[in-house]
Amino acid sequence: MNTKQFVLASRPKGTPTLQNFRKEAVELPQIQEDEVALKGLFYSVDPYMRGRMNDAKSYVPPFTIDLPLEGGVVAEVTDSKSSLFKTGDLVVGVLPWREQMTASAKGLQKIDPAVGQASYFLGILGMTGLTAHLGLTLIGQPKAGETVVVSGAAGAVGVVVGQIAKIKGCHVVGIAGSDEKVNLLKEDFGFDEAINYKTTPDMQKAIAKACPKGVDIYFDNVGGDISDAVINNINFHARIPLCGQISLYNNTETPVGPRIQPRLLTRSALMQGFIVSDFAKHFPDALKELTGWVMADQLKFTETIIDGFDQLPSALLGLFKGENTGKMVVKA
Ligand code: NAP
Repeated sequence: MNTKQFVLASRPKGTPTLQNFRKEAVELPQIQEDEVALKGLFYSVDPYMRGRMNDAKSYVPPFTIDLPLEGGVVAEVTDSKSSLFKTGDLVVGVLPWREQMTASAKGLQKIDPAVGQASYFLGILGMTGLTAHLGLTLIGQPKAGETVVVSGAAGAVGVVVGQIAKIKGCHVVGIAGSDEKVNLLKEDFGFDEAINYKTTPDMQKAIAKACPKGVDIYFDNVGGDISDAVINNINFHARIPLCGQISLYNNTETPVGPRIQPRLLTRSALMQGFIVSDFAKHFPDALKELTGWVMADQLKFTETIIDGFDQLPSALLGLFKGENTGKMVVKA
């Protein structure tokens, strides 16, 4: 049986283009003992995938030229030779960008559609929700009355960070790239203030105004000039969970910015990079808490769902143009 897949055709220099991907037909192998056959339903596209397009050592190996890209996928089991899953089950796992696929049953997790819609297991009840929760609570350690600033605020991680910070009783300020996103953060997601970094000439001043008591926690999703402006406003004993640096992922040269170490030093501040898998032992508890908040309507979520497997590459590229609000997902 034939299926379609997207492979990495070439490695990008700078911003990737559609030419870096190739769609092709591939023969689907028969399933073996302990394997399942799957039909992809929802595919996650994530900023970290840009790093995997480079031939560079990182916390995950690079994608291989002429082999399929891979990422978080929600899929339906269409055939099973595993005692763990039966036909019709919905599962989530790291799977190739193929319309149909076979996979080892190990490493797949069954999802319960009663808990939340299937795509949520790629977002708020999946990797990005856990990133927001654990980065904020374990590194940020928010306390009631503190001020939290989050960049990339209208994205998959950012909307969750801001709302958890509100649940913890903080004053929350989001930074995002359009007036629509700014309005959404304030009106739908309960942020106290939001700033459009694309139309604000002096970000440092705007942050000072939105944070009259200074910044206690800066959840950094984007890096670059935005982060420099926030870090100039941090308080004594501030915490900076360093989650992402999307503004730098397409750079071809190492950027040079202000030396921030003196500011961290004189504010006794903590800046800590993390990869969500560092916190794997906390996943079950965090997931339970996220699920409880979602079911109690204390945590809202939004998704940009792009229709059609063929749109996977353009959806991934869209993340770097701010085309998503909340989680960017492709529906097969
Ligand atoms: P996302 O925020 O849903 O999507 C990316 C957003 O980044 C875009 O919508 C865009 O929003 C913004 N953006 C793009 N280029 C930008 C630029 N040059 N400057 C400022 N903002 C820019 O993505 P996500 O999945 O939630 O991930 C957010 C960040 O967390 C990423 O940096 C990602 O790599 C990181 N992350 C880290 C971990 C971890 O384990 N450490 C896990 C998941 C994600 P605007 O319209 O606002 O520009």
